[in-house]
Amino acid sequence: MKAHDGMYIDGEWRAGTGNTTISVVNPADEQTIAEVPAGTAEDIDAAVRAARAALPGWAATPPAERSVRIAALRDALAVRKDELAETITAELGSPLPFSEAVQVGLPLKVAGSYADLAASYPFEEKVGNSTVYLEPVGVVGAITPWNYPLHQIVNKVAPALAAGCTIVLKPAEDTPLTAQLFAEAAHDAGLPPGVFNLVTGLGPVAGQALAEHPDVDLVSFTGSTAVGRQIGATAGAAVKRVALELGGKSANVILPSADLATAVSRGVANVMSNSGQTCSAWTRMLVHSERYEEAVELAAAAAAKYGDRIGPLVNAKQQQRVRGYIEKGVAEGARLVAGGPEAPREKGYFVSPTVFADVTPDMTIAQEEIFGPVLSIIRYEDEDDALRIANGTVYGLAGAVWAGDDAEAVAFARRLDTGQVDINGGRFNPLAPFGGYKQSGVGRELGAHGLAEYLQTKSLQF
Ligand code: NAP
Ligand code: MG
Repeated sequence: MKAHDGMYIDGEWRAGTGNTTISVVNPADEQTIAEVPAGTAEDIDAAVRAARAALPGWAATPPAERSVRIAALRDALAVRKDELAETITAELGSPLPFSEAVQVGLPLKVAGSYADLAASYPFEEKVGNSTVYLEPVGVVGAITPWNYPLHQIVNKVAPALAAGCTIVLKPAEDTPLTAQLFAEAAHDAGLPPGVFNLVTGLGPVAGQALAEHPDVDLVSFTGSTAVGRQIGATAGAAVKRVALELGGKSANVILPSADLATAVSRGVANVMSNSGQTCSAWTRMLVHSERYEEAVELAAAAAAKYGDRIGPLVNAKQQQRVRGYIEKGVAEGARLVAGGPEAPREKGYFVSPTVFADVTPDMTIAQEEIFGPVLSIIRYEDEDDALRIANGTVYGLAGAVWAGDDAEAVAFARRLDTGQVDINGGRFNPLAPFGGYKQSGVGRELGAHGLAEYLQTKSLQF
C-alpha cells in the first residue's frame, strides 16, 4: 500500500531523523503491506517547534476562517473516503462495509460538526463587569489508538483546530497509514504550515517524547488505562492539561419489562462490532434471573450467526490476549455457550464470537477490559442488585438500559456511574459529550463539550 517515508512537519513531508521503520501488517492475512518511519525524540521536537511557531497566527485567525479550513479538511477526507476505508480495512482488519459506514462515515460527520461549531461557538462572553475570552490552550500533543484510527484522530484534531490550537499527532503504530492519509487531507485543506504535524512512531519512544515535551500545553490521549495513568502523572508533574479517554467495561442492563429479544440481539451486535475493539462496548449483559436462560439462548444463537462476518483482531498480541481471557473465563467457572479460545482460522488474528453465561460479577472476565468479541452474561435478582453489579467495576465509560418504557430506563440510567447511556437502543450522537466516569478517563470528546477541552478562559474586568 501507498506509504510516505517521512514525517509531516511544518507543512511538508520530510525525512525522519531515525533509521528504523515500523512494518504495517494486514491482520487478516498476516502480510506486511507497508513500512513507515519510526519517529524519534528529535522528530517530535521538530514537530512541536513547528506547532509552537504556528500557534500565534492560527490562534488569531478568526473562528469563521478556522471553520472554513475545517470544512475543507472534511471535504478533503470525503474525497479520499474510499482510499481511507480500504486502508483501514488493510491495516486494522475491519470488514470493508464497516470501514466505509462507521470508520470513515462517523469522522466525516464529526469533522463537519466542528466546522459548524467553530463558526457558531461563543468564544467571548459577558459576566457582570467582565468580558471572558475563551482562548486556545496552545500546542496539543495528540496520542491515538488503532481501534477507530480515523475517528480517534478527528475527535482530537477537529476540536483543537476549532479552538485555535496547533497539533502534533502520534498515531498508533498499528495504523499509521490512515494517519498519513489524514495528513494529506490536512495539507490539501490549506491549513497553514505547522498547524497540524504528524510523527509516526512507537509509543514508548515518540509517544513518550511528545507527552513529556515541555513545550506541549495539553496532552490528549486515548488508549489503555496503564499508559493513560503514566501520561497523567507526567502531565501532573509538569502542571499541564491532560485529557484521557481510557478503557471501559460497560453494562447492558436489561430490566424485566424490556423487549428481551431486541435487547439481547442489539447487545450482542454491539459487542461483536469491530471485533469487540470498542472502548464503549457493552461487554457485560445484565439479565434478571427469571429471564436469564432465555437470554443466554438468544445471545448464543446471535453470536453463532455472527460467525464469519467478524474481522480479525488488530495484531497477534491482541489475539493472544483475548484468547487468554477466554481461557481464564473457563478456568474461573463461567459457562461457554458460543465461541471459545481456539483460533477459528489458520491465517489471520481471528477470534470467534464468544459468549459466556453464569458469569459472576467478581470474575476476571467481568472486571477487566478484554477488547475482543467476548460477551459476559450476568444474572441479577432485583434492580438494586443490577445497579450494584453495573457500577461494580473501576470503569464508567458507557452503557445501555432497556425497559418497557423510556421513563423507567431513564430512572435507572440516572443511577449509573457512567458517562454515556443508550436508552432502549438510542442512536449514537456525534454531538453528545463522550468520556468516562471513574478510571475511564478525564475530560470529554465530541460536540461543544469536546471543544471546551481545548480552551482556557481569560477574564477582563471593566
Ligand atoms: P496503548 O499502548 O495505550 O496505545 C495507545 C496509544 O498510546 C498508541 O499510540 C501507543 O503507541 C501510545 N503509547 C504506548 N505507550 C506509550 C507511552 N509510554 N507514552 C506515550 N504514548 C504511548 O494501547 P494498546 O497497546 O494499543 O492496546 C492495549 C489495550 O488498551 C487494549 O487491549 C485495550 O484494552 C486498550 N485500548 C483502549 C482504547 C480506547 O479507545 N479506550 C483504544 C485502544 C486500546 P503504540 O501504538 O506504539 O503502542
Ligand atoms: Mg501499545
